[in-house]
Amino acid sequence: MVTLPQSFIDKYQDLLGDQAPAFLASFNDQAERGFRLNPLKAQQKLAAGDLAQAPKAPYSQWGRLGGVKGHSADHVSGLVYSQEPSAQLVGTVVAPKPGEKVLDLAAAPGGKTTHLASFMQGRGLLWTNEIFPNRAKILSENVERFGITNAVVSSATPDQLAEQLPDFFDRVLVDAPCSGEGMFRKDPDAVQYWNPDYPLECSLRQKEIMAAAVKMVRPGGYLIYSTCTFAPEEDEQVIDWLVKTYPDFEIDAIQKGTDGLISNGRPEWTADNNSDLAKTARLWPQQGAGEGHFVARLKRREEEQSATVKPAQEKVQWTAQEKADWQTFVEETLTDVSWDTKRLVCQGDRLMLAPAELPATKHIKILRLGLVLGRFKKGRFEPDHALALALHPDQVQQRFALNAAQFAQYVHGDVINLSDTKLKKGWVLVLANGNGIGWAKYVNGQLKNFYPKGLRFGL
Ligand code: SAM
Repeated sequence: MVTLPQSFIDKYQDLLGDQAPAFLASFNDQAERGFRLNPLKAQQKLAAGDLAQAPKAPYSQWGRLGGVKGHSADHVSGLVYSQEPSAQLVGTVVAPKPGEKVLDLAAAPGGKTTHLASFMQGRGLLWTNEIFPNRAKILSENVERFGITNAVVSSATPDQLAEQLPDFFDRVLVDAPCSGEGMFRKDPDAVQYWNPDYPLECSLRQKEIMAAAVKMVRPGGYLIYSTCTFAPEEDEQVIDWLVKTYPDFEIDAIQKGTDGLISNGRPEWTADNNSDLAKTARLWPQQGAGEGHFVARLKRREEEQSATVKPAQEKVQWTAQEKADWQTFVEETLTDVSWDTKRLVCQGDRLMLAPAELPATKHIKILRLGLVLGRFKKGRFEPDHALALALHPDQVQQRFALNAAQFAQYVHGDVINLSDTKLKKGWVLVLANGNGIGWAKYVNGQLKNFYPKGLRFGL
């Protein structure tokens, strides 16, 4: 149960008038839970259980209503990503196309990034950034679990990126840090950070981030801004400021549909009552299936002149032995994988497949570059966990489907003994509910466990 500050109640009574009682009453209801299915995974059916029948959520083609359990097979395999229904509108408004260059500027823990990747189908460049390194690490783990192959995960300030990537992206998403009013039901503790000045303070930071973001959108490209707050200072007023400050951006209308779930933005909550602000979108908890959200999409006008960013000149530099070890691994372990070998990158002992259209950057902390394929150990190649989550089972020669008891053993890091099996000595993709969850090596009647130590858990 949320206890709202009186000044919050007064503010929204003023702003909402006769809609205020329903709005304020909605804080007594349970927060809505949701998740998305991952179209990058080969096997799309959820494991039997209550979620298998989960009803569709309204704002994403992959959205469902219901709560995901963190230790379930479908979560571990990345088939599901927990995201409350309203937050799913954001990715749908961005709707990147396969092959585009897309930036998610404030991305941790990765709800929007994983949604954007669902649209991109592994093609193009998805640059996903989080300013705080510890949060960027979580983002990187979620990118890995989702099986995203075309992402760069970085930890930089918006200004650092803007300096090196001017006019570069087809779409830039700023899912801004905000006062979080829309999440009070989900996280009642967030109320304690709120005070009447907080929205205005947040808006200053939002404008700073947007001032960097605008620089990275190519002419004709899109800038999407979202918050999970009701505060006009952080929503319509930021967009109003943006179009006044950067006249080459105009508000692009978000389709609202006819079911009344998505409302127009409120021009009357800004000084000049710019009617274009009605083209932005608001989700109110008293009207729809989810928490409070605001989304705006802006289009940058076409221009003849724009900056050019040089492509990365990464070339795979490996020894003859490393090349041979990789080729042996491919021949013995994989089936029909045909990667563009021009995109292979070797850094230290790690081999990666860089995303297409990778730009040249300097001094930016990059946590993940495309798909991490694996590492060269003495005289052999060892596949990375990320590869297990990105490959479809039919791309691997040897697979082993775990039963429930073996799933518990595997995620705990145990060796699995097999009495009767056709497996040959070598790498095996371990499956839970039809999707890869990690590697094992079959030797002498045993599956040796390669589930990463940091991810292990007991059931
Ligand atoms: N997009 C994420 C998702 O869907 O999972 C949620 C992002 S959250 C609303 C906003 C993010 O902005 C946080 O991860 C926060 O650490 C980050 N952030 C905070 N201050 C920032 C700043 N000054 N510049 C850029 N990002 C910032």
